[in-house]
Amino acid sequence: MLDLLRCKRILTLMAHPDDETLGCGGTLVRAMEKGSTVDIVIPVRRIEDECYEAIKTLGVTSISFGDFRDNEMDDYPLMTVSKFFENYVELFNPDLIFTHYPDCTNQDHRVCYEAAIIATRKRNVELLGCEILSSTGYLKPVRFEPNIFIELNERHMKTKCEAMKKYVSEFQNGRSAEKLEALAKYRGIFSNGQYAEAFMLFKGIV
Ligand SMILES: [Zn+2]
Repeated sequence: MLDLLRCKRILTLMAHPDDETLGCGGTLVRAMEKGSTVDIVIPVRRIEDECYEAIKTLGVTSISFGDFRDNEMDDYPLMTVSKFFENYVELFNPDLIFTHYPDCTNQDHRVCYEAAIIATRKRNVELLGCEILSSTGYLKPVRFEPNIFIELNERHMKTKCEAMKKYVSEFQNGRSAEKLEALAKYRGIFSNGQYAEAFMLFKGIV
């Protein structure tokens, strides 16, 4: 079995506070149990207090924000965003990066995907695209066809939901702990586990 999580230096390159928890929160908890370290980089600075509380709930202590404008990341030259990411890739020297899947409804997500691809082009790093509830897979036809399923147990899932609840301003409008759990249960079917988070592997190094 692939072990993408054991003793890895993990970096998340996703657009907004909450994407890291929605996309790979349970996986981060599981990875840290297995000795991995996690650094979170978020180019859009907003709801910082909620974000600090959420990642603390996950058990993450390293977070860095940028000053890109919310929902306007496509106004910046792509190289500006990729350079921002590249600086952190050099600083943290990760072996595994979580970023966005490009067919999200949110334009900032699509920009971050492109920028992450460029920022890691010269590095031996595994790159996975996350599924964001209420954004990924909503464009038709659906092209998100996950090929990596990371199993989560009850505790991982509970921690993810607890972290998400810290995002008081985000955890509404179509998002709920029930829906997070329903998606994770559905993804768990593919891994024969109780719960799972689903990813698209963009780059794998063997
Ligand atoms: Zn987002």
